[in-house]
Order: sequence, then C-alpha cells, then structure tokens
Amino acid sequence: MGTSCYVAEEIMENALHARDRVGVQDFVLLEDYRNEKSFIENLKKRFKENLIYTYIGSVLVSVNPYKDLGIYQKEYVDQYRNVNFYELPPHVFAIADTAYRFMREECRDQCILISGESGAGKTEASKKILQYLAAASYHATQVEHVKDKLLTSNPVLEAFGNAKTNRNDNSSRFGKYMDIEFNFMGAPLGGHILNYLLEKSRVVHQNPGERNFHIFYQLVMGADDNLLQKLFLQREPELYYYMNQGNSTTVYGVDDAAQFQVVKSALSVIDFTEEEEEALFMITASILHVGNIGFSEENGQAIIAQEKSVSSICKLLGCPEDVLKDALTHRTIEARGDTVVSPLNRDQAIYARDALSKAVYERQFKWLVQKLNNSLENKSESGRRTLMGLLDIYGFEIFQNNSFEQFCINYCNEKLQQLFIELTLKLEQEEYRREGIEWETIEYFNNKIICDLIEKQHKGVISVLDEECLRPGDATDVTFLDKLETTVGTHPHFLSYKVADNKTKKSLYREEFRLKHYAGDVTYKVEGFLDKNNDLLYRDLKKAMTKSSNLITKCTFPDCELTSKKRPDTVATQFKKSLSQLMDILMSKEPWYIRCIKPNDNKLSAQFDDTIVGHQVKYLGLMENLRVRRAGFAYRRPYEDFLKRYKCLCPSTWPDYQGNAIDGVEKLVNHLGYKSDDYRMGKTKLFIRLPRTLFETEDAFEQ
Ligand code: ATP
Ligand code: MG
Repeated sequence: MGTSCYVAEEIMENALHARDRVGVQDFVLLEDYRNEKSFIENLKKRFKENLIYTYIGSVLVSVNPYKDLGIYQKEYVDQYRNVNFYELPPHVFAIADTAYRFMREECRDQCILISGESGAGKTEASKKILQYLAAASYHATQVEHVKDKLLTSNPVLEAFGNAKTNRNDNSSRFGKYMDIEFNFMGAPLGGHILNYLLEKSRVVHQNPGERNFHIFYQLVMGADDNLLQKLFLQREPELYYYMNQGNSTTVYGVDDAAQFQVVKSALSVIDFTEEEEEALFMITASILHVGNIGFSEENGQAIIAQEKSVSSICKLLGCPEDVLKDALTHRTIEARGDTVVSPLNRDQAIYARDALSKAVYERQFKWLVQKLNNSLENKSESGRRTLMGLLDIYGFEIFQNNSFEQFCINYCNEKLQQLFIELTLKLEQEEYRREGIEWETIEYFNNKIICDLIEKQHKGVISVLDEECLRPGDATDVTFLDKLETTVGTHPHFLSYKVADNKTKKSLYREEFRLKHYAGDVTYKVEGFLDKNNDLLYRDLKKAMTKSSNLITKCTFPDCELTSKKRPDTVATQFKKSLSQLMDILMSKEPWYIRCIKPNDNKLSAQFDDTIVGHQVKYLGLMENLRVRRAGFAYRRPYEDFLKRYKCLCPSTWPDYQGNAIDGVEKLVNHLGYKSDDYRMGKTKLFIRLPRTLFETEDAFEQ
C-alpha cells in the first residue's frame, strides 16, 4: 500500500513537472487564463519543446517552427485518422480529421479558416490539410485523379501568385478560398477556387530584397534553350527590369529551374494542352519584354527607346506592331463625339506601360484560376454532396506606410472578425438566453460599427472613394480626404489631422486618415488611393490587346469590352462584393479556425520573440477567444436527440422509456456521472461544457 502510494505520488510529481516544461495543450486548462503573459509563456514553453500546436477548445493555434519537425508523414496521418479530437496531442491533422468526420457523419458543409500574418504558416497549414484529406479520404482508382489535381493545383497557383518578400520567401500575394466537394462516401469529386485581390503592382515594382512572382524566375532559369529562344529571352534574370529591381534574383534554398519542371508537369495534370501552355509562357515572357521598353523624350513626347522589345512582344502576342507602338505613346480621348489623339510624355508612357503589364498579368491569373476550376469541376457524379472549404487569406497588416492595399486587407479582416462574432459569440449568447441558461456574460467588442464605416452605402469610406473616382474634373487624393472628413469625420473610429483633437493631431500628417480597427489603429496615406481604386488601362492599349492572336489574351481582352458603355466596378467595390459573397459562403458552413503565429521576424527556427508574438495574439483576438471558450458550452443537443442516441447506456431509460425527454436525459446524465459543472439543462437542449465529456459518452456507447 505504502509503496503504491509512493509510486502514485511520483507519477503525479512527474506529470506536474512535464506540465511545467511543456505547458498545457489546451489554453482552456490554463489557470491564469485572463493573463496575456501566461498565454504567451505557455506558447513559448511548448515552442521550445517543438510542440507548435495548442488548442483553445476546438481552435488550433500554430506557431511556425521554421524547420522540418517530421510530423506530417504517413504514420501521423494514420495516427490521427478517426481518433477523437482530445485523445492525441494537438495537430493540424486533428482539425482536418474532425472537420472531415463531421462533414460525413452530419452531412453538413464545413470550412477551415486559416489566418495570421505574412510568414505565419497559413499556406503550409492549408497544404497539410489538403494532404491529409487526400490521404485519409476514401480510396478508389476513379478518385485518385481528382486528388492529384487538387494537390497539383498548388504549385501552379504558387508559381503565378507567390513571391519572395522580406517577410516570407514564399509569400502568397493573393487571397484564396477553395471548396472541395465530397460524395456521401467521403470521396473527393472535385473542387472550386475563388481568388482575391492579387498584388499586381509587384509585376512592375519590387522593393529591395524582394522578387517578382516566382514564375518569371522559373521560366528564365528552367525553360530549355529552345523555348527560351522562342520567347526571345536570355538566361539572365538581371537583364530584365521587372525582375531585377529588388536586387535579389535568387532565393536561398530554392531551385527555380527544378521548380519550373514541377510547374510544367502540374499543368499537364490539370488538363493544359500544349498550345495553352505555350500561350501562357508567351504572355509571361512578353511581360518581361514590356518591362524593358524604355522611353526617351523629345519636345515633351515619349519616344520608344527599345524597339526590339516591342517587336518581341508583338511576335509573342500576335498583335500588330504599329498599333502597339502608337498605344504605348499616345492616348485617344473621346469627348462629345470628338476624338482627340494626344501624345504621352515620358512619365505618362511609363505609367501606361506598367498599367498594361499589370492588367495583362492579372487577367492571365484570373484565366488560370478559371482554367483550374474547369479542370477541377466535378463532371462525373450527381447526387448528395458536401463541401469542405479552406480559406487561406492575408492577415491584419500594419506597416510604417499603409496604403490602399492595406486598407483592403484590413477591411477583409474586419469582415472575418464580424463573421467570427456572428458565428461564435453572438449566436452563442443568444442561444443561452433563449434556453434560459445562466452563464457569465462575456464582454466583447462588436466591430460591426467599423465594417459600416468602411462599407456603408453612400456614407462609408468605399462609397466616398468611388464617388471621387467617378467624379469628372479635379478629383484628387486630397479632395477624397476632404470629402471623407465631411462625411465620416465625426465617426468614433475615424480620425484625421483636421478632425482630431490637439493632442492626437501631433501624431498625424495632413494627408492621412486613421481607422481604429478592432485589432488596433492604422494610419493610411491617401496618396495613390484614387489611382489604385480606378485601376485604369488606357483604351488604346486595351484595343491593342484585343487584336492579339494569343489564345489567352484573346479571351481576357474581349472585343465587347471596347464597345461596352458600362463602367466597370472600381477595385474596392469589386472587392467588397466578392467579400460579401465569401461571407455568405462561410456563413452557411460549420467553421473551424486555425490561428497562425510567427515566432520572430527573422525566419529563424529557434527564436521566440515575446513582443512580436504578443502583437499577433492581440490582432488574432486570442485572449477574447479564450475567455469566451472558458465561459461557454462546446456542445448542445436537443433532449430528444440526446436521449435517442444514448438511452441504451442507462438501465432506467433502456430498453423501454415512456417519460418525457428532459427527465430521461436527467436520469441518463446522472447515471453517466456527469459532474454538475460539466453540463446545463436548457429549455429544449442539453449543454455540455467540454467536448471531452461527449467523447467519453461516445466511447461508453461503443463499448
Ligand atoms: P503569406 O501571408 O506571406 O503567404 P503564410 O502565412 O502563408 O504567409 P507560409 O508560406 O505558410 O506563410 O510559411 C512561411 C514559411 O515558414 C514556409 O515556407 C516554411 O518554410 C515555414 N513553415 C511554415 N509552417 C511550417 C511548418 N508547419 N513546418 C515547418 N515549416 C513551416
Ligand atoms: Mg501564404
């Protein structure tokens, strides 16, 4: 007796020591759960032990290890397959497995939302989920091809949509939502991708240390001599203005040439014909030539300095040389029936040239996504199907200089926070109230007021911006700011030099405005807002492109665009519409969250910077998330359903029970030994605090 007591004590002691060392694997178990310092301390302890995953209930927090931990091989897939969430250490596979099983068993669409800063590990997490779903889902020869396509869509999209930035060597420069479609047996049938706001300015400009999109380097380094000659290119990235501005044409540890072969074989898996592949590379090459067109100036008129580049472009795209030359140096304006052709000066010509490259690249990217979608479309089976959505989208951004792009990205994050509130906080509290459940009310900040400030019809920032963009005459970035001050100047989440009090004025310049976002204050410089929102491509250049015989350009610059009288939506309005569509898609699904954190700004594996992590914990709203989790109930079931499923576990409800459901459930939970804090009885439902309790009941059921 004495010895076993001693042994038990020793085990206890060891367990406590282990906990001291590795922290808790679910923040819900953290004693000091309101304290941000303890939260970060727990993440740090685990990070040092290579335990990068921690839960907040069913939310997965992931810290980028910046090294290969060897935790994603087949044996891990097998280990996590069909195992209850709490039984194994936290892992991205556990989220994937649980979402997949819920989808099959309850026939409900699911979605996994991955968020975090650049470099935090979102794209890696989404790839692991895809890998897990492909490995763990139903196997059959007819679906293996679908799985191949789903997996190979990644290298293609990354080649055209990712780039080396100073924060991430493989940074996604677009937002991505992917739906995977499954049949009733859980076999994948197809998929569909939605893309958001490609950072096309990168095509024409890169900051020091950064690169253009990967595909340019892959093509120049990886194409065989024959192809290179056909594209009039040389194997020297430094020769091309659109590739060399960052002074960083290679990435440590990346073999662009080898990657080009991966992309080529991926293209064939997703049904690219040889002609389509050639057309794609021809456009990519022609953009490099566009970048090398230089201009000189005579009498205020731009003159093309690199005729050779222009003739290469025209051969590659199959468009008449004189038309393109004219379009690069002149602008036709039609006003009240008159047509006036005026020459461009050098600056204007450079602006027009870059606008052309951005437009051609962006349209090519959209075409590529559409092509992928055609290939991924489920053409084989009809019948009942369920969807698993994966969202990998830019996190909240605060830089030294914030512009239109940050405004859009942060707006997107406000919408996602709003969704989180709608789906988890608000609905949850409303249900407790309805069911008469006593619980601790959680104070949370509802950011709807900020979403309204940005998107409200006629009165929001986007409406004001569009109004200025559409106003003929003297509209500028500054008149936009003036109008903003008149329209939203008194809004509690808006500030600018003119409307701020004397103390705050000191921290603002005249040509800025500040939004008080849910994650913190961001000051935006108005310079460039109108231009970026308008996104103009001169009509002459559009016209030149419609004459192209390249099969992709022909699709992306249709003739009808020239005759259409309707002005296309501005960039912000297009983005607003696509976000609202995304919210509808996500609202109809059951959400799972992965919150990614990067441990330092240096891409280093063994460094954990408390301050940097602290910011992210704040932007991701993790402390609030934890408070809600602690107070809430993870599961709820109507009494009838609960009784129906588990009545056989209790002699007073099995085999024959005649009473009402609520009494039956009371007998049942007493018999199962639920502790009083583990559950609450509502008006129509039983509420269970932790998933663990329900899983244990499930296990008893199986025995
Ligand atoms: P961005 O917003 O810039 O696209 P991101 O959040 O998608 O950033 P990732 O590209 O997923 O970031 O990750 C950046 C890099 O960090 C990866 O290229 C990889 O080197 C490393 N990394 C991320 N997650 C993991 C992981 N789980 N294991 C090992 N390394 C990782
Ligand atoms: Mg990414």
